[in-house]
Amino acid sequence: MRFETSRALDAIERRLTVDPLAVGGVIDLVEAARSVDLDGGRPAALLRLGQFVDALSRRLGDGDTGLYAIAERGAMSDTDFTSNERMVLRRWSDDGLIEMLPPGARVNARVREVAHLTGVPVITRSPLPGHPGLVYLTTSAPGGMALTLAPVVGASSRPHPVLARYWRCPSPDCPVLGRPPAAGAGQAPPALPNGAPICPRHGDRLLDAGPRPMATMLAVRINGGVRTRFPVSVVRPVVVGRAPEDPNGVTIGNWLDEESSRRVSRNHLRFELRDGMLLVTDVSTNGAAVLARTGPTAAPREIELNRGEPKGLGEWDEVEIYPEITVGRADRPPADAPKGSAPNSVMADAPTMALRLPPR
Ligand SMILES: [Zn+2]
Repeated sequence: MRFETSRALDAIERRLTVDPLAVGGVIDLVEAARSVDLDGGRPAALLRLGQFVDALSRRLGDGDTGLYAIAERGAMSDTDFTSNERMVLRRWSDDGLIEMLPPGARVNARVREVAHLTGVPVITRSPLPGHPGLVYLTTSAPGGMALTLAPVVGASSRPHPVLARYWRCPSPDCPVLGRPPAAGAGQAPPALPNGAPICPRHGDRLLDAGPRPMATMLAVRINGGVRTRFPVSVVRPVVVGRAPEDPNGVTIGNWLDEESSRRVSRNHLRFELRDGMLLVTDVSTNGAAVLARTGPTAAPREIELNRGEPKGLGEWDEVEIYPEITVGRADRPPADAPKGSAPNSVMADAPTMALRLPPR
C-alpha cells in the first residue's frame, strides 16, 4: 500500500506547477489536504490533492492540466501530515513545483493574487465573496468531487502589466523565480504587496529580466476531450490543421476519422495575439465558425468566420473546425462539459485506506 500511495503522490506531483500557462486552477494546498469531509479520514492528507486534480481534469476534459498549489512554510512541520508527506512537501517546494510562502504569510491572499494577475481560476472549498475572477467551488458528485463555477463578479481579468516583464529573484537558487523559464513556458507571477514586484518565496525585491511576450494556452478538443495544447504568443502565431506546412503548426490529422479528414484543411485556422487580443483567422477551404459565449453558462452563438479575416476571440469562445472538433482556451471549461471519469486520473491507483491511517 505504501508503494501505491507513493505512486499516487508521484502522479499528483507530475501535475503540480507554478507555470500559469500550464494550469487550470490555483489552490491553497493545506486547505485541500485538510478536506476531511471528502473521506472522513486523517486531519490532513496530501493524497486529497489528487481529488482536486482529477476534478479539474474532468471539468476541462484534460488529462494534462496542471494545478498551481500554494502553501506556507509551517505546512512542512505540521504533524498532521506523516513524516513522509512532510518530506514530499519539502521536495515539491525545493523543486519549485509549488509555491512555499514565508512563515506566517497569508496563503489565501496569495491564491487570490495569483488568480487576479494571471486570470487562472481559484479552486476553493468555501465561497470567496467579491473576488473579481473565476472561482470553482467543490461539490460532491457521483464518481468523485466536481467543480462548479461560482457566478462571476465583475469583468474577467486580463493579464496584469507586471506580466509583460520577466522577473528574477536575487536568491541564486530560488526554485520559483531563480532562472528564466524554458521556451514556451510561463513564469510564476511576482507578489505585489505594495506595487513593487517581490519574490513570493523569499520576499526580496525582484530584478527585471527583460520583456516577456504575452501568451495564451489553447487546447484542441475532440469530442470534448483535450488532445493537445499549444501556446500562442505575440511572437508566435500558430496554424492548426490536418497537416500544417509550418513546422511549428499544430497537426491534428492523426485524430481524425475518414469523414472529418476530408473536412479539415491542411492549414485550417491561424491564431495570433495582437495588442493583448487573441485573434483567429480561417485560412481553410472548408470554413469554420466561432461558438461565442459571453460567460460560462451562456448558450453558444454560432458565428461563421469570413475566410482570411481575423476575428477577436473572447475568453469563453471556442472555434469549431468541424462538429466536435474545437479550439479554445485551455484554462476555460468548454460549453459541452465532458462526461465520464477523469482522463488520466491521478487517483486511479490510490488506496483509500491511506487517508484513514494515523500519521506515522
Ligand atoms: Zn525567490
